[in-house]
Amino acid sequence: MNLHEYQGKEMLSGFGVAIQRGIVAKTAAEAVAAAKQLTENTGTDWHVVKAQIHAGGRGKGGGVKLAKNIEELEIIAGDIIGMQLITPQTPPEGKKVNQVLVAEDVYYPGASEPSEYYMSVLLNRATGKNMIMYSTEGGMDIEAVAEATPHLIFTEEIDPALGLMPFQARKIAFNLGLSGAAFKDMTKFVSALYRAYMGSDASLFEINPVLKTSDDKIIAVDAKVTLDDNGLFRHKEFEALRDLSEENPVEVEAREVGLSYVDLDGNVGCMVNGAGLAMATMDLIKQAGGDPANFLDVGGTADAARVETAFRLILKDPDVKVILINIFGGIVRCDRVAQGIVDAYKNLGDAIQVPIIVRLQGTNADIAKELIDSSGLNVLSATAFQEAADKVQEAIA
Ligand code: GDP
Ligand code: MN
Repeated sequence: MNLHEYQGKEMLSGFGVAIQRGIVAKTAAEAVAAAKQLTENTGTDWHVVKAQIHAGGRGKGGGVKLAKNIEELEIIAGDIIGMQLITPQTPPEGKKVNQVLVAEDVYYPGASEPSEYYMSVLLNRATGKNMIMYSTEGGMDIEAVAEATPHLIFTEEIDPALGLMPFQARKIAFNLGLSGAAFKDMTKFVSALYRAYMGSDASLFEINPVLKTSDDKIIAVDAKVTLDDNGLFRHKEFEALRDLSEENPVEVEAREVGLSYVDLDGNVGCMVNGAGLAMATMDLIKQAGGDPANFLDVGGTADAARVETAFRLILKDPDVKVILINIFGGIVRCDRVAQGIVDAYKNLGDAIQVPIIVRLQGTNADIAKELIDSSGLNVLSATAFQEAADKVQEAIA
């Protein structure tokens, strides 16, 4: 689950990470009120207005703008709210901005120049350790830095059993070229960031830029936070942070009915019971020259109602040319699944315009095949895996 910048910052702040302070607003009037409230706490009338969408590169696309007074702020907020923001990370048509973060300006002049760094925390699956990636080259596209100057990107691996050791935090501050108060503040920042990563069951933090202000404070100016969906059950407090308008509507609907569904780009709809079989089925489709349109695990209880719901979800994808149902009847009997498929088909009527290939194996598979073959519907049955693949191939040819 991805968070908006303002939600990510709020969460980080709760773990003691220093952040650029801000207030979220849905209208220009709310933005003005937010700016006035911030000024009371920060003393500055300069604010940045930042579009809140689940995509980075907002600065480049015109979604982050500095306002030097309230009049400017009202105009800028009015322009950004409701705009269709296009960045290198959005779909080509962009994303609609529903809210902005009004934040204190933290690039104020002072004793030294502000400096921008890059920092992320993530899991290194190859080593089974957590990793802090960081660079002196903050504020810009990190992929471009990795391409042109890979020696300027550092990594620090953290053993999850030991946690972040103090010497590691010092090493990071040192490699970033810091000294004095900024050095000390960076070690605190890094420790708090790692504590937040562990405490929130996150799978990715990307803070770009981390800023050293002109008076040597280290703060998070941006925050991309991805929480691990498998850890969410431990965090009821994060439930309200989900923004459904940013998610794939079919995946949202599937989650609501307890089906495990992931939208993909291909044209062969899949309905399978069990995640392992679902993946094997997707491999099979690929081998037959097709491309799966989705991953869909209907789970252990593939009754008529579930099969019908699954059909409905798959049919929402206009790219689907054929549906392959691959069910292993272990606990659930094949004839009951077959009956479910026939019933669902009849209920959906004209909604199904594509051929359906069904492979049922396991308990009562023969009765199931009989049921499908005698149903008179546009459903082809297959017994062997390869037979099912061949029929998929024919259907998409
Ligand atoms: P992104 O473009 O989506 O990654 O959004 P960021 O939150 O990283 O903001 C983009 C850029 O806006 C930053 O790299 C800064 O250069 C600039 N920016 C952010 N906050 C401030 C601020 O308080 N004052 C000024 N002057 N610029 C800011
Ligand atoms: Mn950024």
